[in-house]
Amino acid sequence: MTNRAIAAFAHPDDETFSVGGTLARAISLGWQVTAICATRGEVGEIAPGTNATPETLGNVREQELRAACAALGVTDVRFLGYRDSGMDGTPENKDRRAYVNASADLVIDKLAGLFRELPPAVVFTFDESGIYGHPDHKAIHRHVTAAFDRAAAPGARLLYTAIPKSVAKMIGEQLRAAGVRGGPPGDFGVPDEEVDIRADVSAFAEPKRKAVAAHATQVQEWQAHLSNEQRTKMLTTEYFHVARGSKPRDDDPLA
Ligand SMILES: [Zn+2]
Repeated sequence: MTNRAIAAFAHPDDETFSVGGTLARAISLGWQVTAICATRGEVGEIAPGTNATPETLGNVREQELRAACAALGVTDVRFLGYRDSGMDGTPENKDRRAYVNASADLVIDKLAGLFRELPPAVVFTFDESGIYGHPDHKAIHRHVTAAFDRAAAPGARLLYTAIPKSVAKMIGEQLRAAGVRGGPPGDFGVPDEEVDIRADVSAFAEPKRKAVAAHATQVQEWQAHLSNEQRTKMLTTEYFHVARGSKPRDDDPLA
């Protein structure tokens, strides 16, 4: 069986921050890698200095995702065609095209079809908290998990991204100390004991940094207030919970 990894996330940039270094590593090891994105991130933030407008953001972010994936070596990029649902409680939730309003059966069918067409050895997606609770993150978690259980081959592995609470706490403390408003909510991440893999992807920090830079509309001001050590850590360490399949040796998500 060809070694294949599928990274299935909700918005352009989720893949880079969650598993970018691991995807670049998979490519370097000769794996086939497919990135699946449920939406084009139409209602995300727009960083100052970029030319995107609310009307063009979806197109811009589609190109950003393709450029970020290219930086990681990933050329197979697929969109599921839904619209960004926005944060909980925003009017965008009500848009009939919003991902949260899609039929779960239909999305699961689409994903299961892709898992049969491109049989993965490893699938990556969000944990049930969706890192910080974005409704699209929680939806892709549910849909990917159901599709995996229906269509993945025996022995395939399902890995959830899992930022340890201790790391989340450190980020929160640094931002508060710097007087930053906004940024990630105070209580995110998963309990440290549920983190099964701490993957060292420092050999792929440079492609990951380029992929982060490719998501220019999503550069967040708060990240500049993190310590150098913390920013380096975000480029060099990726965290996973093993939801299905064997736990790997040597903290290697591709083992
Ligand atoms: Zn997202």
